[in-house]
Amino acid sequence: MDKETKDLGVLALFTSVYCAAHHSEQKRETVDLGLPDSGKYRYCPACSELLRYAIERRKRCPLDPKPTCKHCQVHCYRAGHREKVRAIMRYSGKTLILRGRLDLLWHYLF
Ligand SMILES: [Zn+2]
Repeated sequence: MDKETKDLGVLALFTSVYCAAHHSEQKRETVDLGLPDSGKYRYCPACSELLRYAIERRKRCPLDPKPTCKHCQVHCYRAGHREKVRAIMRYSGKTLILRGRLDLLWHYLF
């Protein structure tokens, strides 16, 4: 897996954890995101839209090597998007650690 695939895989996993916890009352479906594990996760329409957007932007990032988004000059994410992604990462990172499901994360990190 290249770094881009790993990063997006973590985002896809985290978004599914967040979505399951916050949007369980909505209709959630698997989405083909073109990522190795994307068929395993389910998303509500808003989360799948957020994820598709993030993947699209990441694939088109003009900077190489890509800096971390915090230090990026391009600001490709539209207003509000980064805050949503940050909330998802924070919530899901904590949840996976508390549930002892770091194995899911290691899968992408190593
Ligand atoms: Zn959702």
